[in-house]
Amino acid sequence: MENCIFCKIVRGDVPASKVYEDQDFVAFHDIHPAAPVHFLLIPKQHIASLYEVTETDQSLLGKMLWLTPQVAKQQGCENGFRTIINTGRVGGQEVFHLHIHIIGGKDRLPTMIHHGQ
Ligand code: 5GP
Ligand code: ZN
Repeated sequence: MENCIFCKIVRGDVPASKVYEDQDFVAFHDIHPAAPVHFLLIPKQHIASLYEVTETDQSLLGKMLWLTPQVAKQQGCENGFRTIINTGRVGGQEVFHLHIHIIGGKDRLPTMIHHGQ
């Protein structure tokens, strides 16, 4: 995708602080980290969001989830981490190229889900 910022990172047209790369995926630090560890894992293939995945993407999605703890451990998340995939307007998605946020730090992250709504 010509104007997609994450496709530009995949192509090397926009710099990013990469923490992992293979033939299918790249992971890089979020430009505005929300915690001491905050990186994004994205498929190199442009998929706009989780809404756009198809049946043929199942193995890619499986690999994406399998890679998540591998890279998280490499980045020092030995006591756990949080994963977030924002999808569409309701999910607050800002960049329409599928990505998992992997967030961690020294301490417990603030509670995100408050019950009773
Ligand atoms: P979303 O709300 O779409 O799930 O989050 C997009 C994330 O991408 C945000 O946390 C934002 O800080 C990050 N981001 C946006 N543009 C860039 C960029 O050019 N480089 C990097 N490294 N992160 C970006
Ligand atoms: Zn893209």
